Amino acid sequence: MTARILVVDDIRTNIKVLEAKLTSEYYEVISASSGPEALEAAVNLKPDLILLDVMMPGMDGFEVCRRLKGDPDTAHIPVIMVTALGDPEDRVQGLSAGADDFLTKPVDDIAMFARVRSLLRVKLMLDELRMRERTSASLGVISPPVPSLDEDYAAAQILLVEDNPRDQLRLQRMIEGQFRTEMTADGLEALHRARQVEYDSVVVSLGLQNPDGLRLCSQFRTTEETRNVPILLLVGPDDQKQLVKGLEIGVTDYVVRPIDRNEFIARLRAQVRRKRYQDRLRLHYQQSMEMAVTDPLTGLYNRRYMASHLATLLAQSASQHGTAVAILDLDYFKKVNDTHGHPVGDEVLREVGNRIVRNIRGIDMACRFGGEEFVVLMPDTDLESSEVVANRLLQAIGGKPVTTRAGDLTVTCSIGCTSSQGGDTADSLLKRADDAMYEAKNGGRNRIIYRTAS
Ligand code: GH3
Ligand code: MG
Ligand code: MG
Repeated sequence: MTARILVVDDIRTNIKVLEAKLTSEYYEVISASSGPEALEAAVNLKPDLILLDVMMPGMDGFEVCRRLKGDPDTAHIPVIMVTALGDPEDRVQGLSAGADDFLTKPVDDIAMFARVRSLLRVKLMLDELRMRERTSASLGVISPPVPSLDEDYAAAQILLVEDNPRDQLRLQRMIEGQFRTEMTADGLEALHRARQVEYDSVVVSLGLQNPDGLRLCSQFRTTEETRNVPILLLVGPDDQKQLVKGLEIGVTDYVVRPIDRNEFIARLRAQVRRKRYQDRLRLHYQQSMEMAVTDPLTGLYNRRYMASHLATLLAQSASQHGTAVAILDLDYFKKVNDTHGHPVGDEVLREVGNRIVRNIRGIDMACRFGGEEFVVLMPDTDLESSEVVANRLLQAIGGKPVTTRAGDLTVTCSIGCTSSQGGDTADSLLKRADDAMYEAKNGGRNRIIYRTAS
C-alpha cells in the first residue's frame, strides 16, 4: 500500500529524519515548514496522510488540524500529531481538534509505521466511498454528507469488553453520562451482541482471557456484520508489540493504561465521528443509487435503468423465447389533469404503477417510461405468452376505478406488445412496441395490439 504523506515541521532536520524513514518504506513524501504552507499543500497535493508537528511558530499544529478538519476538501485526510510532550492534555487538545493519532518525539519507527498503515487503511475505504459519492453526485442527486466535529455523542452506543472486575467499574465510571454504554466480560457474548446491535464503537481490553483480546478483534474484523465497527484497544505501556499486531489486523485506535479519562472520551468521540461519517456516506450512496434508478412518483424503475436492463437481457439472450415488451399509455389522461388538477393525475399515476406491479410476474420488470406511459419487460417470454400478462394489465388498470380525492375515476390504457427476435436491439424492440401502442390508440383505445418482428 503506497501513499503520499505530508510531513509538517518548522525544523528542517525533523522533516529530513521522517522523510528518510518513510521513503525507505516506499512512501512518497512531501513537506511543509509552516501551518499555512501545510494547509495549502493539503488542498493542492492531496496527501493520503499528514504527520503534523504540534509546536510551530505562528500557527501551531492544533490550529492547522482544526482548519484541515473543518474544510470539506481536507477533512477526510487522517492527521497524526507529532508532539514533544507525552502530556495527556496535549493529546486531548489534539483529539478535539480532530487529530486521528499521536506520536511522541523521538518517533519510534515500529509505532509510526503501524499507525501510518492502520490510518491509511481507513483512508482507502473512505476514498472508495467518496469516489462512489462523486459518481452519484454526477447523477445529480441529493447533496453529499461532510465529516463533522459535532455529533450527538450522548446517543452513541459503546460496548465495553473487559473481564477484570475492577477495571470494568473504572471504565464505566469514566464515561458515565458521555455515551450509552454496555459492558460484558465475555468476548463471544460481545461478538454476538455486536452482530445484533450496531455499536458506534467497541472497546476491547488486550488482556481479555477468553478469547484473548487480539483474537477477539480479529473475529470482529472477519465477521460480516461487525467488519466496520470501530475497535478501540486498551493496552498497557509495555504492550507495544501486541499493539502493532492489533493495528495490523484492523484495530482502529487504542488507549494506553493508566487511562486518562479525557483522552479516553476524546478518542471514543473520534471513533463515533468516523463511524457516523462512514454510515452517512454508505446510506447516501444507497439512496443516490436508488434515486438514480427509480422514478420518484411511482417508485417504479426509471427509463434509463429499464433501457440498460433491456440491453442486458437482449445480450444474454440465452433464453429460447426472447424478451417481450409491453408499452402502456393511459387514454385521454390529459383530461384527468384538466378536469381534476395535476395532483389528482399524480394519484392516478401512482395507483396505476401499483396495479402494474401487482399484476406482473416476479421476473418481469415495470418501469415508468415517461409522463403517463409505462413499460413492462418480460424476460424469456414469447409473444403468445405475453398475452396473459397484457390482458391482465388491461383489466387491472381499466377494469375498476381509481379512488382519488376527486372521487372514483376510471382510466383505461392502450397497450402495444411485442417480443424480441434475433437481430433486435433495445431501440428496435421499444420502437415496435410503441408502433403497436399507437395502432391500439387509433383503433379506439382500451385495447392491446401485438406485433411480431417482420
Ligand atoms: P391519449 O389517449 O392519446 O394518450 O391522450 P392523452 O391525453 O393521454 O395524451 P397526451 O399525450 O395528449 O397527454 C398526456 C398527459 O399526461 C399530458 C400531461 O399533462 C400528463 N402527464 C404527464 N406526466 C404527468 C405527471 O407526472 N403527472 C400528471 N398529473 N400528469 C402527467
Ligand atoms: Mg395518453
Ligand atoms: Mg402519452
